[in-house]
Amino acid sequence: MLSAGGTGGTGRAGGSLLSIGECMVEMAPAEGGLFRMGYAGDSFNTAWYARRLLPANWQVGYATAVGDDAVSAAMLGFIEGEGVDTAAVRRLPGCTVGLYMISLDRGERSFAYWRGQSAARRLAEDPDWLDRVLAGRDLLFFTGITLAVLPPEGRAALAAALGRARAAGARVAFDTNLRPRLWEDEAAMKAGLALGAGVADIVLPSFDEEQGLFGDAAPRETVARYRDLGAGTVAVKNGQAPVTLWSAETGAAEVSPPAVAAVVDSTAAGDSFDAGLLAALLTGADLETAAMRAADLAARVIGRRGALAADLFA
Ligand code: ADP
Repeated sequence: MLSAGGTGGTGRAGGSLLSIGECMVEMAPAEGGLFRMGYAGDSFNTAWYARRLLPANWQVGYATAVGDDAVSAAMLGFIEGEGVDTAAVRRLPGCTVGLYMISLDRGERSFAYWRGQSAARRLAEDPDWLDRVLAGRDLLFFTGITLAVLPPEGRAALAAALGRARAAGARVAFDTNLRPRLWEDEAAMKAGLALGAGVADIVLPSFDEEQGLFGDAAPRETVARYRDLGAGTVAVKNGQAPVTLWSAETGAAEVSPPAVAAVVDSTAAGDSFDAGLLAALLTGADLETAAMRAADLAARVIGRRGALAADLFA
């Protein structure tokens, strides 16, 4: 059994975390040539873990757009059933949600996506709606995928709304989650990262992705880039290698993840890490303690199959 290990919620006011992005239908190979239907997406996975880690007097919500068809309703039913609030979900007539299918070839997973027409692409169309759902939150979380699936004007609209919410007192966290195929080109991806990081207090990049795009020689170069873009806290994930931390208050530090004997499925390593770190920070932990709890959770998650390791919280 894992918990945030923070206040336990007793005697202290709770708060509100809102994750923003796209949740998709997942078709995963099952026995006998069948597929098992589920729901996943980086920002949703983080909300799902945060719900399990934060005390009950915290609200965890998910902001996205879905359609008005049966599969959209089923997805919302799932999200609510997992304890994640759906008051910040736009419902768009005539639209539907995105879908991805996992293929297995001798243990190697590959993914095919049908998300080009998904309702989530229209998440940032209405600035008044954005202001309403972002208002009054303690922490707003979004990712590079959240930005990538939006059209360029949607990216600007979301960043502007996050900036307004931040000016009103919310903290903003951004996982850069680089997916080159979702962006028009490399220049658009770099501009999107700068836009996202420019409105974030906390930036959570992964070193292999940053090295691939920017040629960083070491995680401290990744830290420097996001510090220069305005972040006050950066945690650079790097697989089993140490997490490189930096904050404006306490400077640089490193935390080593626990050794994992056998990685069963690395899906949601980064997503669960983010939830572990944010839940710990929100309940009063310092950055090093938060990163240790995050790495401990991620290590358990990669020892399980699938993105959402429910048995860890049973
Ligand atoms: P992402 O999934 O975002 O690409 P990483 O692969 O860097 O990010 O993993 C995120 C976190 O998951 C790491 O910081 C670490 O805590 C944990 N992790 C990933 N792979 C391993 C591993 N082989 N052993 C232990 N921890 C790991």
